[in-house]
Amino acid sequence: MKEKILRFFANRYGHDYFNYFLLIAYLIIIILSNIFDSLILSLLALFLICYSIYRSMSRNFYARSKENRKFMEFWYPYQQLYKAIKNSFQDKTRKYFVCPKCHQVVRVPRKKGKIEITCPKCHHSFTRRS
Ligand SMILES: [Zn+2]
Repeated sequence: MKEKILRFFANRYGHDYFNYFLLIAYLIIIILSNIFDSLILSLLALFLICYSIYRSMSRNFYARSKENRKFMEFWYPYQQLYKAIKNSFQDKTRKYFVCPKCHQVVRVPRKKGKIEITCPKCHHSFTRRS
């Protein structure tokens, strides 16, 4: 029995960032559907959980990685913004900004007034108040 289960789960795609996103979206939508008693939200939540299970059970690694890569391209600016905000709260001597062109997190000293920041990655210049 144990070998059958192991064989069934062998060579499956598993979880990635896109699947975690789908699961979190599912949780949020299922809570909202219970609050608003909405059939459409319940069906959307059902679709999300089924798609998440389908992705994790899939054997088509190429297609699932391609989906995850597209998702990460979409998610990267938000991830960097979160990192900049989190670091700005934790670091009291420096402030963190996100480059509007390449989304690199840039660190500058605090309380220097309006400064021009040059991104170390793409050399794009932008002004912010630090
Ligand atoms: Zn940049």
